[in-house]
Amino acid sequence: MQSDPTTICEVDPYAEAMPQLSVQDAATEPYDVAIVGGGPSGSACAYWLASAGWNVLLLEKKVFPREKTCGDGLTPRSVRQLADMGLEDEVAAVGHRYVGLRANGFGQQLEMTWPNTGAFPAYGYCVTRHDLDQLVADNAAKAGATVCTGTEVLSVNDLGDIAPGHGLRSIGSLTVKDKASGVTRNVSARYVVIADGANSRIGRSLGAVRNREWPSGLALRGYFTSPRHDDPFIESYLDIRDAEGSIVPGYGWIFPLGDGRINVGVGLLSTDKRWKGVNTTKLMETFCAYADPTWGITPESACGPATGGKLPMGLAIGPRTGSNVIVVGDAAGTVNPFNGEGISYGYETGRIAAAAIADALLGGGSGSLIDFDRELDAAYGDYYRVARVFVRVISDPKIMALCVGAGMRSQWLMEEILRLMSNLFRPDTRGPAELGYDALEALTRLLPKGLAEKMLAAA
Ligand SMILES: Cc1cc2nc3c(=O)[nH]c(=O)nc-3n(C[C@H](O)[C@H](O)[C@H](O)COP(=O)(O)OP(=O)(O)OC[C@H]3O[C@@H](n4cnc5c(N)ncnc54)[C@H](O)[C@@H]3O)c2cc1C
Repeated sequence: MQSDPTTICEVDPYAEAMPQLSVQDAATEPYDVAIVGGGPSGSACAYWLASAGWNVLLLEKKVFPREKTCGDGLTPRSVRQLADMGLEDEVAAVGHRYVGLRANGFGQQLEMTWPNTGAFPAYGYCVTRHDLDQLVADNAAKAGATVCTGTEVLSVNDLGDIAPGHGLRSIGSLTVKDKASGVTRNVSARYVVIADGANSRIGRSLGAVRNREWPSGLALRGYFTSPRHDDPFIESYLDIRDAEGSIVPGYGWIFPLGDGRINVGVGLLSTDKRWKGVNTTKLMETFCAYADPTWGITPESACGPATGGKLPMGLAIGPRTGSNVIVVGDAAGTVNPFNGEGISYGYETGRIAAAAIADALLGGGSGSLIDFDRELDAAYGDYYRVARVFVRVISDPKIMALCVGAGMRSQWLMEEILRLMSNLFRPDTRGPAELGYDALEALTRLLPKGLAEKMLAAA
């Protein structure tokens, strides 16, 4: 199995892709793999497995296209995964290409273009999840996956014991409901992927839990019409304030969609009890009033009410495997704590899971799924550990002001920080240990000596 999540599944067990099959067609069972959830992680996993010829069933409760609360921002990391799935032209056709980040904070503004890393493109896209998720799910279907939308997984049944090396019980079958007809039936699969998002009812029913000691995030977003809908930069505000004017740990964003609208939102890091009481709706209103007026963010330009969601981050959810089960994406808490990005990590963890399951199907059995856990730790463990420490430290408004204030005075330093926070290192030259080290080093350069040492000790 590959240790680099950016390499493709190197499994081609059948020469031809499997034909399209219906969930009603019992002759296809057991499926090789059933996937719960057709968001970024589930659809990417389905694509990679189906492209390798496996008999895959993707179960999604909503019917595409559907709205999904998100900032709609694709970083170069996401673009790389979409390109690997052969989707860049389609994304370019529906999305708005942008070149970098304009950061605002404490009276300063810096424009930074995405770095040239070789491994990732130096641009991103803003594209609504309404359009994006359908593209990726359709692509999985084209690759041969059976994609059943409007089909909810109600429960997982016939749970087995927890096998050695795993933390979740195995799954015997799934009860699914066709939402249009109301008909329920059982389906079976040799392996099951849980990709049901931040609330992950199915993951929780198997025993996956979030480590509440670790940071998590909440975010709210709304669409507005704007004269700057095709701005070449996405914009962030690093000094958002509550209604009383106090700095809160989080950031505001404005992402231009290129279709007449912008996506405006606020993200809040809830690292300790202090931030549990912050009213995110008020935070959003305050941010809208504070953001640069040239964007035209007013109650009149709002396209509808803001909606919100959770950001489970830093690999805070586990266990992640049973002898025939893998949990991926938001259901496994894979959002990057540094920047709240989760789409790319959904694609990547779906892909890593696909490689592990293909390995299991080829004879590796449940041991290959333990490799998935190791792969995740190898790919993100050190980096997320540093990110969690950073998030905890920066939740102190004084330290936040110090870090952002210092960073905003140096274009070079902020470019380093952008690269670090977006995880845009060269995977061919840097291992995870170096990434963690780079991350710490760059961050501690912002802090007074005593504090930097405290942070290093905590990591
Ligand atoms: C306000 C906000 C802004 C964000 N902005 C960004 C951003 O700009 N860029 C970025 O990279 N990330 C962003 N994120 C994070 C990103 O949205 C998630 O990390 C990403 O969607 C995770 O993908 P996923 O496939 O794991 O889960 P999801 O996208 O949540 O997909 C899960 C899917 O499973 C389906 N499902 C759930 N239960 C069942 C069931 N029982 N049966 C069948 N189907 C089921 C759901 O309908 C859904 O389609 C944001 C999040 C929020 C809340």
